[in-house]
Amino acid sequence: MIPWISIRDAAAYAGRHVELRGWIINQRDSGRIKFMLIRDGSGTMQATIWSKDPDFPLFQTFARLTQESSLKVRGTIQADPRAPGGFELQVDHLEPVHIAPEYPIARKSHGTAFLMKHRHLWLRSQRQTAILRIRAAIIRAIRDFMDSRGFVLTDAPILTGNAAEGTTTLFETKYFGESAYLSQSGQLYAEATAMALGKVYTFGPTFRAEKSKTRRHLIEFWMMEPEWAFAELSDVIDLSEHLLAAVVARVLDKHREDLKILERDTAPLEKIVPPFPRITYDEAFELLKASGESDTPYGEDLGGTDETIVSKSFDRPLAITHYPADIKAFYMQPDAADPKKVLCVDVIAPEGYGEIIGGSQRIHDLELLEQKIREHGLSEEVFQWYLDLRRFGSVPHSGFGLGIERTVAWICKLPHIRESIPFPRMLYNLYP
Ligand code: ATP
Ligand code: MN
Repeated sequence: MIPWISIRDAAAYAGRHVELRGWIINQRDSGRIKFMLIRDGSGTMQATIWSKDPDFPLFQTFARLTQESSLKVRGTIQADPRAPGGFELQVDHLEPVHIAPEYPIARKSHGTAFLMKHRHLWLRSQRQTAILRIRAAIIRAIRDFMDSRGFVLTDAPILTGNAAEGTTTLFETKYFGESAYLSQSGQLYAEATAMALGKVYTFGPTFRAEKSKTRRHLIEFWMMEPEWAFAELSDVIDLSEHLLAAVVARVLDKHREDLKILERDTAPLEKIVPPFPRITYDEAFELLKASGESDTPYGEDLGGTDETIVSKSFDRPLAITHYPADIKAFYMQPDAADPKKVLCVDVIAPEGYGEIIGGSQRIHDLELLEQKIREHGLSEEVFQWYLDLRRFGSVPHSGFGLGIERTVAWICKLPHIRESIPFPRMLYNLYP
């Protein structure tokens, strides 16, 4: 039996006769020697066909191949320092599976609009496959970290009957004669499961019908949301630090080759080690004012540019805490020392990637929560189940939401969030 191997594992098969199955990236004819660059999803490898005989049958097969044709090849893996990756396949059997007609994405560079329209094919590029492998590694690292810390995965529904923070940015849909909304956060449900299991997290897609057209916003994005009974704000800030450090360490450990494909400078990533700096909103505001680069008035939320300005002087993720209550969600616990502020945290990624985590300690007092629901003009009726969590064994608890795509964009240093997910959903962009 000839083993069917992945290109990624080629080194372990040096000198052996193997089979590869993949697609042609490009090919080159140098007379007696024909070169093919083959990709199989795990990596790329040069394959060569050599013969002194111009009528060598494999040469005819080679001549039929085109960019993106699929094939099976067999041959011997040889160490070759000149070959990309250090190994090449010396081919003795070549079997086309499908000969592709002219491929729309040529090797010349295309504009973003064209690439987005061909996203289903663009995904095959070396750069996009590197990003997707890193995205998968990040998701697995997050799960491994949360699981190892004793958090139980409790997924939240996507179709929801009540709006967590008002209806303005919700997608509404029909639900057997009622209105339903696509979830914009699993948090409220995670609060319920946290009271059952103590430490939980949700991990799933969330939806924001925001008309923001920035390089940081998607309409559909994935979030991992831990919720932790009896935990205070500082506990979840600690958790977030160790989580981010573990995720970055995993990518550095397992995906150096992919980071190299992306030409990602790894030096800034090596610095992502706890503790991370922590400042308050007021302190952030002072930095902002001192920079002279922002005219955001005190008391307002920090915009993306503000976050970049403030985080510029730090080489690690920056935790900004104690925002004014007025600009934050109704369920956030007021700071006992200054009730105009809430016990919340936004973690700002370095290198200008903005907020990747938003979290808080949640109000556990029934009457206070009822009051906040009224003040925010929300329906007390639909929140009855949520208020029950404060009626039966209520405890202080805290959690946060980590945006997966923003994390991928930062770690891969992508110029735009659209490349961080296989099929981005953005304003005016639903195809493919
Ligand atoms: P922003 O102010 O940047 O729009 P937000 O404060 O509305 O974000 P949260 O509700 O706190 O976001 O969501 C938690 C996390 O989810 C954010 O820290 C971010 O990582 C991610 N996130 C939020 N909105 C988006 C979006 N539209 N696209 C991609 N990720 C998002
Ligand atoms: Mn936020």
